[in-house]
Amino acid sequence: MDQLNNTYSVLLKENEELKIQLEEANDTIDAIRTGQVDALIVNDGDGHQLYTLKTADQTYRVFIEKMNEGAVTINRQGLILYSNSRFASMVGMPLERTIGLLFETFIADQSRDAFEDVIANAWEEDCKEELLLKNTEGHYVPCLLSCNTLELDEGVALSLILTDLSILKEAENQLKIKNLQLAAARLATEKLNNELEDTVKERTNELFLSREHFKYLANNIPQMTWTNLPDGEVDYYNQQWYDYTGLDQQDTKKWGWRKVLHPDDLQATMDRFAESLKTGEIFEIENRYKRGYDGAYRWHLNRAIPLRDEKNEIVFWVGTATDIEDQKKEMERKDEFIGIASHELKTPLTSLKGYLQLIASYKRDELPSVVKQYIEKANTSLNKLQRLINDLLDVSKIQAGKLEYAFTKFNITDLIKTCIENAEHIHPDNNFIIRDGKDYTVNGNPERLEQVVMNLINNAVKYSPQNKDVIIHITDHADCVRVSVTDFGIGLSAEQQERIFERFYRVEDKKYTTSGLGMGLYISAEIISYHNGSIGVESEVGKGSTFYFGLPLIRDYRLETRD
Ligand code: ADP
Repeated sequence: MDQLNNTYSVLLKENEELKIQLEEANDTIDAIRTGQVDALIVNDGDGHQLYTLKTADQTYRVFIEKMNEGAVTINRQGLILYSNSRFASMVGMPLERTIGLLFETFIADQSRDAFEDVIANAWEEDCKEELLLKNTEGHYVPCLLSCNTLELDEGVALSLILTDLSILKEAENQLKIKNLQLAAARLATEKLNNELEDTVKERTNELFLSREHFKYLANNIPQMTWTNLPDGEVDYYNQQWYDYTGLDQQDTKKWGWRKVLHPDDLQATMDRFAESLKTGEIFEIENRYKRGYDGAYRWHLNRAIPLRDEKNEIVFWVGTATDIEDQKKEMERKDEFIGIASHELKTPLTSLKGYLQLIASYKRDELPSVVKQYIEKANTSLNKLQRLINDLLDVSKIQAGKLEYAFTKFNITDLIKTCIENAEHIHPDNNFIIRDGKDYTVNGNPERLEQVVMNLINNAVKYSPQNKDVIIHITDHADCVRVSVTDFGIGLSAEQQERIFERFYRVEDKKYTTSGLGMGLYISAEIISYHNGSIGVESEVGKGSTFYFGLPLIRDYRLETRD
């Protein structure tokens, strides 16, 4: 027990001594750091050795203590004789514990070879090396190690200055990453650029091809063609235009085409075109363009259609001019022939009718009944022939602008009722129904309007092989009297409806053929237009048609007759 107590007290004492030694050591280090001490004793295993710090004056020691680099002094064995606080914090150890340790303790394995080389060299000459320090927590600290020999009283020592490269390395690392990212971005941009360039090339090529395609087409059609901007200015003509007009692009660009238009056609063309530009409706007119090489004006069918984008806005107009001079001449010759022929036919026809009347009236009672029948039949055929010749004469008069007639105020309802009586006489199998039929007064030519009504009624009968009902409707609407004739016959398609008022137009129907020359509706339309009226049709194939016309009403008369 006594022995134990003894040992305990010895240990306590030793402990006390060690504590004192530690405190002394700390004080010494503090003293060195603050420059109060110039020498110290280190126990390096071979007994105590004295190291003096005479060469390092106080100012430098303070300076070293404050600097941002780690500063260490080692002896030949590599033991740390001195270290500043910065080094201690770099390796994560209290300052007092670093002293007396082997410096290589803090060198990371991967830097060990380099360290040994540099230290071996350092005793010969000043040198530098980048190394990795390993701190107590196992983290690596990249450092630049600079070695210089120090002449101390006790011998030569090595001064090691350690510059923490962590921030630099991190910055370098960041820079590297940024550089890599930059390179990747540059690569992506380059790729995008290349793709874009390819697309542009492809599109340019497509555009070029489609433009060439268009030009090729435009230059290989017989018509003159051009394109107008939405405001009407021309921005392209095909070769035919330049060949025909003899003008160049400079002469005819924008509105230059007006100088080759016949002066008499200019106003109508401009008005119609302005209307189309405003409404976006297809432009169509017949006009004359001057041919460059002989100055001749030739008739053209002039058309322009708008091209719209997905928002339905007009992008441009495509115009064409088709030379119809030869057709026009042909038509004129035909009209002339019809005019002369119908005129020539009319004279013998009139005498034929006269002679027939003479025969009919000659001792009428003595004529055998079969002869009477022949006379009836001859009269019917002559009447048909006369109507045909009259129509032909009318057509040629219309063409010559000579279909003129006097106007008078008359009751159109009475006229229509008379027409129906006639129709009942001519077509006894049909059923004519009159609807409304109040009295209406118009200003016009009764014979010509009778011709219109009879034409519509005859057509209703002619083109209704099955259903024999014909409805005649007389009504008024907005200062107009409206007369319509409805049948339940073969009807007309929309396309046919558009053309039936044209001269000599007849629907070609293999299933249903009738005689006729396609003049009746053309003449009717002309007559109605002469009366400042309107004419039209509503129809459905297989169901029937309603032909109608409207004429300006003389309201006072209508009111009077109503009362
Ligand atoms: P035409 O009857 O002598 O041929 P029109 O000028 O009177 O000449 O008529 C032109 C064309 O219009 C006719 O050939 C016929 O095809 C069509 N048409 C006229 N009226 C009717 C109708 N009521 N129903 C069906 N088709 C009609």
